[in-house]
Amino acid sequence: MLSSHANYQLVDTHCHILHMINKSTQGAFSSEEIQEIRKILYQAELKSVTSIFEIGTTKIESMLSVELAKIFPTIFSVIGIHPHEAKEYQKEDVIFLKNLLQQHHEKIVGIGECGLDKHYPDHHLAAQKDLFKAQIELAIQYNKALVVHTRDAEDETYEILEQYKHQLKRVTIHCYSNSLAFAQKVTSWGWFLGIGGTVTYPKNNLLREIVKTIGLNSLVLETDAPFLPPQIIRGKQNSPEQISTIAHYVAELLDTAIETVATQTTHNAHQLFIP
Ligand SMILES: [Zn+2]
Repeated sequence: MLSSHANYQLVDTHCHILHMINKSTQGAFSSEEIQEIRKILYQAELKSVTSIFEIGTTKIESMLSVELAKIFPTIFSVIGIHPHEAKEYQKEDVIFLKNLLQQHHEKIVGIGECGLDKHYPDHHLAAQKDLFKAQIELAIQYNKALVVHTRDAEDETYEILEQYKHQLKRVTIHCYSNSLAFAQKVTSWGWFLGIGGTVTYPKNNLLREIVKTIGLNSLVLETDAPFLPPQIIRGKQNSPEQISTIAHYVAELLDTAIETVATQTTHNAHQLFIP
């Protein structure tokens, strides 16, 4: 029996359960791993987090994310290759994703995370751009949501997204950390901003201003677990149950009820991934 009496549901639109359980090799999930995942899902459900989107960052993770979606009805699969992998990028990688899409079309709800990241000096930007564009084209071709990762590369990301703005209908800018102007642009195209633990960090006044300016209609909630824990558990491993912490924080920030935040962001998550 679940002890949650809340009359609302929350969604974690961006999670890496595979990283939480340190699963990095292909092959079936062990019974211990299944137990560990069940525990994560149960604890999330106690906090009203009833759907979780598992995001791939490599070919193996993408394949495993499809497996998770097959085993657990509350997990949805998003497949993609992270810009950090761009150095090794080959055309076959996109063909691999394409094959996954063809074989498991109904289990895969999005492409990502993909995008541009100039945070580290050795960033292979040209390869990142090719890999990003190839995944954008997959999202368009297969009519899937696009999960964008962009870090220290706002102008370059904007330049690419702008070219595709009419073809791309369903997009989230994951772990939003760009400018207000960028937020206003992409939300005017009907896209979403992914808001997570970083909104609770004391120094992040800019993101709080953006959330207030943009408003609930264009936001989805995400943990990026096991990364980016909200301030109250900073230094510890993040987990999908923390969507509840983020939702309460956003409710307070916007001076509205938690039910309002839950209803609107859950609706947005469905519009984004499973319209
Ligand atoms: Zn992520």
